[in-house]
Amino acid sequence: MELLDGKKTANAIKEEIKAQVTAMQSRGDRVPHLAAVLVGNDGASLTYVGSKVRSCEYVGFESTLIQLDETTTETQLLTQIDQLNADASIDGYIVQLPLPKHIDEEKILLAIDPKKDVDGFHPANFGRMALELEAFIPATPFGIMQLLERYAVPTSGKHCVVVGRSHIVGRPISILMSQKGPAGNATVTVAHSRTENLAELTRQADIVVMALGIPEYLTADMVKEGAAIIDVGITRVADSNHPKGYVIRGDVAFDEVAKKASYITPVPGGVGPMTIAMLLQNTLLARKWNS
Ligand code: NDP
Repeated sequence: MELLDGKKTANAIKEEIKAQVTAMQSRGDRVPHLAAVLVGNDGASLTYVGSKVRSCEYVGFESTLIQLDETTTETQLLTQIDQLNADASIDGYIVQLPLPKHIDEEKILLAIDPKKDVDGFHPANFGRMALELEAFIPATPFGIMQLLERYAVPTSGKHCVVVGRSHIVGRPISILMSQKGPAGNATVTVAHSRTENLAELTRQADIVVMALGIPEYLTADMVKEGAAIIDVGITRVADSNHPKGYVIRGDVAFDEVAKKASYITPVPGGVGPMTIAMLLQNTLLARKWNS
C-alpha cells in the first residue's frame, strides 16, 4: 500500500510555484495577486481564508483579504465584485462560501469575471472544463488529478466509482477522470444518495473517490483488494479527548480499508492540502492567461 501524501505533494507544488514567482521577479514582472472576499465571521471560513492568504505569502504572491460585515447586502457585495473585476492589479479572486443566507450565492458566482474565477465555479469555466478547453478547474478535483498523476496511479481503462455528485467535487472529478490525458481515460460511475446497492458498485471499482461527507462510510467489505482510494471527506467529529474537542474524519474507515488498498489518501493530509496548492496554481495561470 502506498500512501498518497497530499501534504508532501502540495509542498512540492508550492515550491514549483515559488520558483516561477522568483523567476518573474527577477525578470521585473508583476507577481500574481489573489484577492479573497469573506463575508461575516464564520470560524471555519476564517480559518480557510487565513491559510489561503498565508500560502500566497509563502509562494511570493500578493494577496488582499476583503473582510465584509455579516450585514453586507447582496447589492454591496455585487458592487465589490464589480470593483474586483475591473481592478487590473488583481489576477484572480475567490468569494469564500458559504455566504450569509440573505445573499444569493448563485447570483454572486455568476457576477465573477470567468477570467478571474480561480475557484473555477463559474458556468463558463465548468463548461470549458467539460469541453476540454483551457479553464480554471475547481481546486479540489484539480488536486486529486495531480495526486493521481504524480503518484502514477493507473487510471486508463480502470473503473472508477465516484461517490458524490456535488458541483465542486463529485461532478467535476467524474468528468476529469473520464477525459483523455494524464490521470484520465477511466470508466467512471457516479453514485449519490439515490444509488441502490452502493457496496456492489464500490466492490467492482479499481478506484473509489469518496466525496459525500459521512465519516468512515467506506468500510473494508465495500472495496476490492488492490483498489486505489481517494478520500475527499472532511467532517469534524466530537472528541472530548482532543484539546480542540473534535477530530477530523474522512469518508473512509482508513485503518481497515488501507489494509486492502494499493493507494490511499489519509485525512487529514491527503486531498485537503492539495486544494490550497491548486488555488495557487490557478492564480498563477490567471496571471499568465490574462497578461
Ligand atoms: P455535498 O454535500 O455538496 O455533496 C454530497 C454528495 O454525497 C451528494 O451528491 C449526495 O447525494 C451524496 N451522498 C450523500 N449521502 C450519500 C449516501 N448515503 N450514499 C451515497 N451518496 C451520498 O458535499 P461536497 O461535495 O461539497 O463535499 C463532500 C465532502 O468533501 C464533505 O465532507 C466536505 O467537507 C469535503 N470537502 C473537502 C474538500 C477538501 O479540500 N478536501 C473540499 C470540498 C469538500 P445527492 O446529490 O443525492 O444529495
